[in-house]
Amino acid sequence: MAASDGTVIIGGGLAAAHAVQTLREHGYPRSITVIADEAMAPYERPPLSKDFLQGKQEAEAAIVHPADWYAEHDVTLLLGEHAASIDRAGHTVALASGTEIPYGQLLLATGADARRLHLQGADLPGVLTLRRIGDAENLKTVFAAGGRLVVVGAGWIGLEVAASAKQAGMDVTVVAPSSTPLGSVLGEEIGAHFADLHSSHGVHLRLGLQVTAILEADGRAAGVETSDGEVPADVVLLAVGATPAVELAEAAGLATDNGVLVDAALRTSDPDILAAGDVANAENTELGRLRVEHWDNAIRQGQLAAKTILGHTDRYDWQPYFFTDQFDLGMEYVGHAGPEAQTVIRGDLEEGEFIAFWVEDGVLTAAMNVNIWDVNDTLRALLGRAVEVERLADEDVPLDQL
Ligand SMILES: Cc1cc2nc3c(=O)[nH]c(=O)nc-3n(C[C@H](O)[C@H](O)[C@H](O)COP(=O)(O)OP(=O)(O)OC[C@H]3O[C@@H](n4cnc5c(N)ncnc54)[C@H](O)[C@@H]3O)c2cc1C
Repeated sequence: MAASDGTVIIGGGLAAAHAVQTLREHGYPRSITVIADEAMAPYERPPLSKDFLQGKQEAEAAIVHPADWYAEHDVTLLLGEHAASIDRAGHTVALASGTEIPYGQLLLATGADARRLHLQGADLPGVLTLRRIGDAENLKTVFAAGGRLVVVGAGWIGLEVAASAKQAGMDVTVVAPSSTPLGSVLGEEIGAHFADLHSSHGVHLRLGLQVTAILEADGRAAGVETSDGEVPADVVLLAVGATPAVELAEAAGLATDNGVLVDAALRTSDPDILAAGDVANAENTELGRLRVEHWDNAIRQGQLAAKTILGHTDRYDWQPYFFTDQFDLGMEYVGHAGPEAQTVIRGDLEEGEFIAFWVEDGVLTAAMNVNIWDVNDTLRALLGRAVEVERLADEDVPLDQL
């Protein structure tokens, strides 16, 4: 096997697509190979729980670059190929199909996998998860058949699918152990707002319950057993979070802890291997160690990993950002609030148009605009500033004068 001084990327998701683009945009002269175990060229996942699931968008619209873009940019895109192991001493990656690929620099962009629950019945037909395009296609088939869907989990993906399923005409119940949806991220007040949103659209919320088993009838899932009775259903979606895909890194002896540990330039404990996106637990120069599972982070970290490979000195120094769309609610969140943060509302929660701020020790640590647009950059610029709670809540004080 000939040695290579080029870059190999394992994983064909958003981080990979943006790393490749940045490398070529900056004139990277060496070979680039992307090993991607899905059949489709790298694509965006947010539509899988929203527009694609609702039939408003075709799968192709989610692709980051068309398949021929890779050849045009002299990138070898190996679709349907699984990287099975890394030989750090030999600087090679072995594919499950047997081929060995040499690397100079290796980027791990393996993302995350939908978490499954170790419960009786969790492997039955009719128990689904959502991570890949094929999972979304399965859910679309479920929507077309109609009937009752139980969503286990009241996080972002669970709530987005609940909204899409309800809009498709299904009878939807969300079961979760928390007292409000998203309460651990957004606090109880905003969590209650999301609960009202779903209830007012006819989604049944069964909160504060543990799911103890998947019910079975005729060899298929028939609902869930909970700590407070049974919830019958035709299909069960497990939306209980994601686990970083660290197996390769662990087997190669790289440092891992809730993801692959990387520094602020996204280098792992091996200087020739980087990690970016959902799989990376990275040192943020402002916020400390973070593993972020969001679209914006995958794009930016893909770009940052490329810049590190190019020899630039950029660092992971930005605030997290994410968005969601559920029924008639669209929102953007920027920042990183701790559990003790005080929530301050500007605007009308009941009208559904407001900005929420999170304040810790008099400093603004996060902000979220709900059905108010073109303000997120302004909110981002305010993060880290000392603020007065009364002025934050006062709509007469312009945002840029806070
Ligand atoms: C349904 C859904 C909805 C979402 N909605 C939002 C949203 O509204 N807003 C938001 O901010 N974020 C959202 N996200 C999160 C966002 O999509 C992720 O943060 C982003 O996809 C992460 O990109 P990534 O490149 O790190 O990993 P991924 O997109 O997971 O890509 C990793 C790829 O690597 C492949 N791979 C893994 N191991 C190997 C291997 N050994 N060999 C070859 N290939 C391998 C995987 O199969 C996968 O294709 C959503 C995610 C999902 C699943």
